[in-house]
Amino acid sequence: MRRLSAVLLALSALTLAPVASASPGAPARACSGRDRAGRQARRRAPRSRSIGLPWRGRLENAAELRESDDIRFVGEYAERGSRYGTWQLVQLVERAAARVSRRLPGARLSVGEMSGRSGGRLDGHRSHQSGRDVDLGFYMTDARERPFDAFAFASFGRDGEGRGPNRMLRFDDARNWELVGKLVADGDARVQHIFVSRAIAARLLREGRRRGAPGRVLARAARVMSQPAHHPHDNHFHVRIYCNPHERPRCEDRAPFHPWYPGDPPR
Ligand SMILES: [Zn+2]
Repeated sequence: MRRLSAVLLALSALTLAPVASASPGAPARACSGRDRAGRQARRRAPRSRSIGLPWRGRLENAAELRESDDIRFVGEYAERGSRYGTWQLVQLVERAAARVSRRLPGARLSVGEMSGRSGGRLDGHRSHQSGRDVDLGFYMTDARERPFDAFAFASFGRDGEGRGPNRMLRFDDARNWELVGKLVADGDARVQHIFVSRAIAARLLREGRRRGAPGRVLARAARVMSQPAHHPHDNHFHVRIYCNPHERPRCEDRAPFHPWYPGDPPR
């Protein structure tokens, strides 16, 4: 087990280098004025900070997630405005949604709640307090296999069919696997947990193998996906990232510390 961890760590250092560390000698990419303005605004913005624990914490200088061609907010939660997180989390969601759109165009990622602008307690959630948690609805298709934007999270069973009134909906194995595969392989934001039902986790790993995903990505996905005792998570993914090293020690993590933990794990 330890040897496997070491191999994973070595592989992650080679192949999952943080996006920000691109070689300075690399040719400049053409970029639109809007991209440039966005990057300048981000550079001026004070660094976001996650403080404390996901279930007892707050958020400073939050980044706001916006709707886009790749991202929509789930109607049931949109009005509550809990769409803030650390830069690492917001950018992770943007990168993951963009990857799914690029590989399998035609659908948008459905985002539920993140944290409030300053973090702290959020009705209906135990965690989501420090800008490092996000609820993501599943990609799903209707009876004619077209991407479907549901107003609320929809539950799915082991067979991939919607439950109750959503029986005509299908769990979109391909897009949901692309999403999970990107989340766990991201070199900047490091994912600690993806809470999701055991039945759905098994479907996704099967899909990943079927699509020829690299072994290290499958191993990470198998390790971070789990079904918590208090809620089966058969209608959404709950994703949590670790503190960024610059946020520590005020930002606190608890076990498990996976081999891709950024920096030295707390003792
Ligand atoms: Zn959640």
